[in-house]
Amino acid sequence: MNLKTLTDHNLTNKKILVRVDLNVPIENGAISDSSRVVGIIPTIKYIQSVGGKTILISHFGRPNGSYFKEYSLIQVVPLLEELLNFPIKFSSEIIGENVKKTINSLQKGEILLLENTRFCPEEEMNDENFAEKLSSLGDIFCNDAFSASHRAHASTVGLAKFLPNCVGHHMKKEIDTLELVLKNPKKPLTAVVGGAKISSKLNLLLNLIKKVDYLVIGGGMANTFLFAQGIQIGNSLCEKDLKETSLEVMYTAKKNNCEIILPEDVVVASEFKANAKYNIKDLNNIKKDEMILDIGPSTCKKINEIFSISKTLIWNGPMGAFELEPFDNGTIDTSLCAGKLTESGKLISVAGGGDTVSALKKSKADKKFSYVSLAGGAFLEWMEGKSLPGIKCLL
Ligand code: AMP
Repeated sequence: MNLKTLTDHNLTNKKILVRVDLNVPIENGAISDSSRVVGIIPTIKYIQSVGGKTILISHFGRPNGSYFKEYSLIQVVPLLEELLNFPIKFSSEIIGENVKKTINSLQKGEILLLENTRFCPEEEMNDENFAEKLSSLGDIFCNDAFSASHRAHASTVGLAKFLPNCVGHHMKKEIDTLELVLKNPKKPLTAVVGGAKISSKLNLLLNLIKKVDYLVIGGGMANTFLFAQGIQIGNSLCEKDLKETSLEVMYTAKKNNCEIILPEDVVVASEFKANAKYNIKDLNNIKKDEMILDIGPSTCKKINEIFSISKTLIWNGPMGAFELEPFDNGTIDTSLCAGKLTESGKLISVAGGGDTVSALKKSKADKKFSYVSLAGGAFLEWMEGKSLPGIKCLL
């Protein structure tokens, strides 16, 4: 992909507007996962090293165009300072003369963080006037927020109209990795898709069956496929109205030489809660009041065998109700196998999208995968084959 990078511009003494994703999870008032902040450090350090001035721009949560203290980016300043070992200036205003003055007084290598852009309603409207005012704060626009690039907002798309642009180190790494696995993968290529529902991942499935050799379907969405094949699935989560759609997915997969792997045995329980009494069953005798909450051991074995003959793996979504023990077993067992194969150099493994990262963290497989994308919606849209507005505008 023909995107400019930071090294394509002379950054010395320039003001670089860097769109980052500081939308970090907060639990009990503290940042519970710093991965996104850690991810942007190389870009900031690079700009510092060549004597540029960094102006960080980000959204945080969904404040819907108004100020809310709990969505203020000032909360992220201490972590940024700790990771960079450098002081960060903070502007509570996003556009206007005061911000301009502060920015114009920045010295080479200094860093300023602007307040949450979503405090301005114009941000999510991609208002051109707002984007122009924002652009007047800098000389170059650098997008280092792949995870926000599926949104056409003023700070992701609008800015590109007014300034020379490039992608940051983190975004480049995300794009290069995703291109590697979906455009030029080492074959056989396997995709694992799990999670609750087919309806939210239908486009993803439709794109993957054209590209992958094996498609492993787990989690709640597998239930609809089993139901469509006439299997009694009791009280399991199921989208009965998608029966025909799932049969079409299976038919199209077959036409494209994509083998779909569905559960052959399952873990069932009558209650959706941690440590509920459970049974491991094949698919023939699931009772009316039972719910499928995880894949069973034979299915895990089969999936792991598919992994061992694959060269590349893409993973989105858990294999079961992974938040509730012991229904995390299937996700843990299979992700650990993928992690081990990756460590021994036999597999390239990439995972991403919302719950996937927390599911893989449970087994600590995230540390063993070749790459874990920090993007949720953007990762899914990329895997669906969509072109992301935040990337398209840079080309
Ligand atoms: P998603 O956001 O679509 O990736 O779905 C993740 C959610 O799917 C998690 O909260 C899981 O608990 C849930 N899930 C996975 N498998 C099942 C299942 N068999 N029954 C009910 N929920 C499930």
